[in-house]
Amino acid sequence: MSEKINKIPIAKPWTGEAEAAAASRPILSGWVTQGPEVEAFEQEFAELVGAKYACAVSNCTTALHLALLAAGVQTGDEVITVSHSYIATANSIRYCGATPVFVDIEPHTYNINPTLIESVISDRTRAILVVHQMGMPCDLKAIIDIARQYNLPVIEDAACAIGSEILWDGQWEKIGKPHGDIACFSFHPRKVITTGDGGMITTNNPEWDQQFRLWRQHGMSVPDTVRHGAKQVIFESYPMLGYNYRMTDIQAAVGREQLKRLPEIIERRRFLAERYQQMLADVPGLKLPTEPAWAKSNWQSFCVRLPEGIDQLQVMQAMLDAGVSTRRGIMCAHREPAYSHEKWSCGIEQKDCGCQKESCDQLRESEQAQQECILLPLFHQMTEKDQDYISRIFETNIRKL
Ligand SMILES: *Cc1c(COP(=O)(O)O)cnc(C)c1O
Repeated sequence: MSEKINKIPIAKPWTGEAEAAAASRPILSGWVTQGPEVEAFEQEFAELVGAKYACAVSNCTTALHLALLAAGVQTGDEVITVSHSYIATANSIRYCGATPVFVDIEPHTYNINPTLIESVISDRTRAILVVHQMGMPCDLKAIIDIARQYNLPVIEDAACAIGSEILWDGQWEKIGKPHGDIACFSFHPRKVITTGDGGMITTNNPEWDQQFRLWRQHGMSVPDTVRHGAKQVIFESYPMLGYNYRMTDIQAAVGREQLKRLPEIIERRRFLAERYQQMLADVPGLKLPTEPAWAKSNWQSFCVRLPEGIDQLQVMQAMLDAGVSTRRGIMCAHREPAYSHEKWSCGIEQKDCGCQKESCDQLRESEQAQQECILLPLFHQMTEKDQDYISRIFETNIRKL
């Protein structure tokens, strides 16, 4: 067996003593679930992204579920979105009993192609759920223009986009303000900052924010923090069907420390992404990710499209043999076994559809991106030496295969 000098993961959260100390606060205080730390985290998060309201929940999937419910999505409705995303995006629509209507992506940004949205709007369309894929802001201006014409709410799946920015009326603004109606974030360790698991919903609509707060805690009329502090006995009631989608104070305490690190994390990621761009610029046939002039990505993932005829699996295996972890391009929900029986649509009537199993003519760019792209390691603690090694191994294999 050959000795492996390097072992580079695809991603690694940046956490340390500050997070460990923060987590010990609620543990030592005895108030461990949703309480003062969650409230402080919400305020700090809202301030960071420029939103009026931020409501913390258990993860981004539950955040998306509540966002769709607030938008009024019900059984039998349609929600326009992309298949080319983590499966949670489509699943959240199915939780409401609605049908995801998948639109293809742009081949360079890997985000929804706004020019394809209008043709799939029907009288059952209830919302548009867009994704800022891998942290790259999608073309919100174009999308919101269409949505407003049809009076449709826009929900932003910003799971990967904490700290990403968009040029809005001449100003750089953080994703999550939100520019649509509701934005949902994830604090899973694969994202840019982490609380273990966790999510956040931002909106400027006070009624929706109130609604999220009820839903996340079983629809309970009086939160347990209020009963705990009350001088008189209070009976709570449950006026609606709710969920247990709470974030704990342990998670929130960690999240508050992670927010402090965010500017440094973004700066480092942008530096490393720029460095990849330079180092890989001359690899024949390789297509590097592009950032529109109106977008600043947090580079949650660095996605490259392999030269024609190069096998994704072979490259990934060769990289792994050299101690470098990679991942394939973003998955397509419509090609997963779950969606051979879950309901979805590409906007074309089923009877006119001559597509093969696990493939859809309307979603060519999505499928090609899944097959032709790989993600290279990118994380805060990665050294320039690591990156030199990754680039060298990668280029050598591309030229060899
Ligand atoms: C990770 C991710 C999710 C799910 O986030 P969780 O916090 O793990 O529930 C949803 N959408 C996208 C685009 C993601 O990348």
